[in-house]
Amino acid sequence: MQHIIDRFISYVTIDTESDPNSTTTPSTEKQWNLANKLVEELKSIGLKEVTIDKHSYVMATLPSNVKEKVPTIGFVSHFDTTPDFTGKDVKPQIVKNYDGGDIVLNKKEKIILSPNYFKDLLQYKGQTLITTNGLTLLGADDKAGITEIVTAMEYLIQNPEIKHGKIRVCFTPDEEIGRGADLFDVKKFGADWAYTMDGSQIGELEYENFNAAGVKITFKGKSVHPGYAKGKMINSMLIANDFINELPKNEIPQETKGYEGFFHVTDIQGSIEETKLELIIRDHDMKKFIKRKELVHKICKKINKQFEKQFGEDIVICEIKDQYYNMKEKVVPVMFIVDLAEKAMKNLGIKPIIKPIRGGTDGCRLSYMGLPCPNIFAGGHNFHGKYEYVPVESMQKAVDVIVKIAELTATTDFSKTEKKKEKKGKKKK
Ligand SMILES: [Zn+2]
Repeated sequence: MQHIIDRFISYVTIDTESDPNSTTTPSTEKQWNLANKLVEELKSIGLKEVTIDKHSYVMATLPSNVKEKVPTIGFVSHFDTTPDFTGKDVKPQIVKNYDGGDIVLNKKEKIILSPNYFKDLLQYKGQTLITTNGLTLLGADDKAGITEIVTAMEYLIQNPEIKHGKIRVCFTPDEEIGRGADLFDVKKFGADWAYTMDGSQIGELEYENFNAAGVKITFKGKSVHPGYAKGKMINSMLIANDFINELPKNEIPQETKGYEGFFHVTDIQGSIEETKLELIIRDHDMKKFIKRKELVHKICKKINKQFEKQFGEDIVICEIKDQYYNMKEKVVPVMFIVDLAEKAMKNLGIKPIIKPIRGGTDGCRLSYMGLPCPNIFAGGHNFHGKYEYVPVESMQKAVDVIVKIAELTATTDFSKTEKKKEKKGKKKK
C-alpha cells in the first residue's frame, strides 16, 4: 500500500494544469515534467518500446508471455489536471483508518471534508484516504489512473506466472481541455481495444457517454441615447435573455441525471451593441441530441423574424459545432470487452456499477478513431476541486482489475465472440 501512496504522491506533486487558451500540445510546458518522469519510470520497471512523441504522448509495451496469439489490449490515462482549480503546490494529506467523521483539510481556512455533505465518504470507513490541504485540487483525476496502470504493469513483470498477452499503455496530455485524443496515434498504439482508467468511485464501468455540441451565439443590438430610445434601441443583452428564457427551464445540469440531457449556458458577455453567449448541448440519445440542436436554431430564427423589419438583417447569429458522440455505438459491436471488465471486477469481489457517463472521456473519441475504449474507475471522488480525495484501497483494487483483465484476456477463448461477429456480419450481407 505504501508503494502506491508514494507513487501517487510523486505524480500529484508535479503541477500539470492544462490551458484551454493555448494552441500547443501539450497546452502547458509543465506537463513535460511528468511526461518525462513517466518515461524514465516505465523504463526502470522494465517495460519495452517506451516512447514519447513531440506532443508528449507517452507509450510503452509489456510483451506477451504466452505462446498463443491473444488480443493486444491497452490502458490509457491522462497526466494533465483541470484548469478549473489550481494544481500548484499540491500537499496531499494521508488519513489512515478513516473514522467516518469530519476531515479538517485546512484548519486556518476552516475547510472541512465532511460526510454530512459528501456522503460517499462513509463507504470508506477504516480505509486510508488521500486528501488535499484545502488549497488545491488533488489530481487523482487522473494521476490515480496513471498510478494504477504503472503499478499493475510492475506487478505483472514481477509475477511472470500470471499469463497475459501484449499490453500497451498510453499517457496523454490535455484531456481536461478536451484534446487528449486529438493527437493520439491509434495505429502506433496498435491495441485491439483499450480501457481508460479515468472513472470515479470503485466499481464504475462506463461505455455510454453524451453526444455533445458547443454553441456560440452573437446577438446584435443598436445603441441609442436612452432618453431618445423609444422604438430605436435594441439591447442585445435583453435579447440574449429572451433566448435563454425560451430554453426548457428544467433541462439544465442541476436539474438532470441519468440519461436526461440538457442545455447549459456556460458564458455570457454583453453590452447594448453586442452580446456573446456560449452554451453546451448534451444528450445520450442521438435523436434527442439532434432535436436539441434544432430547437436552438428554431429559437434564433424566431427572434430574427421578430426583429427582421427593425434591424434589416439577422440580429442573431448562431454557430453549433459537434464536439463528440456517444461511444456506445462503437462499443456495443464488441460488447465482450465490457463483459470482460465486468467479469474481472466480479472475480475480485467488486460490485460493477455500470452507468452512463454524463460527460465525455478520451475513450469516446478514441472509440470513434478505431480503438473501442470503455472507462473504468480510478477510485477518486469530488474531482476538479479542493474536496477531491481518493481511498488507497480503491486504487489497489483498480490495480487488481487491470491485472485480472490482462489475465482474462490471455485465458478467454475469443473464437466464440469472433464467430458471433462473423455471423452478424453475414446477416447484414
Ligand atoms: Zn480525468
